[in-house]
Amino acid sequence: MARQKTTTLEDLIMAVSKLPWWAGILLAVVSYVVLHAFVSRPVMTITAPGQLGNAAAKGIMTGFAMIGQYVLPFAFGVGAIVSAINSTRQKKKKSEPLVINNKSRQAVIDPVLLRESNKSEMPCPKCGGKLVRRVAKRGSNEGKSFLGCSNYPRCKYTMAT
Ligand SMILES: [Zn+2]
Repeated sequence: MARQKTTTLEDLIMAVSKLPWWAGILLAVVSYVVLHAFVSRPVMTITAPGQLGNAAAKGIMTGFAMIGQYVLPFAFGVGAIVSAINSTRQKKKKSEPLVINNKSRQAVIDPVLLRESNKSEMPCPKCGGKLVRRVAKRGSNEGKSFLGCSNYPRCKYTMAT
């Protein structure tokens, strides 16, 4: 019996910890106010023998509410604390990959931007393709930049600049 109660309480704390922390605080306050009001209201006087069963049932419920008014806010409160700890942990975990993402995104964008800036507006007069600024790697013009067709080696058109 005692073991079963602890499991239910742990389940309740686990369930509340998945809610936002302020929801746990809210539940703790509401459960205390409702159960406390239930316990402290005046006991109904028995006027007819038929009401005896009802009174007994209410007595048991009041007994549960007396324990519950302390147990439930405690469980909700603990759940709220667990939720608050979890949310701060998750925030820390989330911030780390964001920095890595920014770095890798820059690494991808930078070569594209460099390539874009090398594009010339002139079309290739031979094939109609785009002329791209290139630097000669071999020959007498080594190190000098020139415009070459982007369709190279299919089109070998070049233009000195
Ligand atoms: Zn061309």
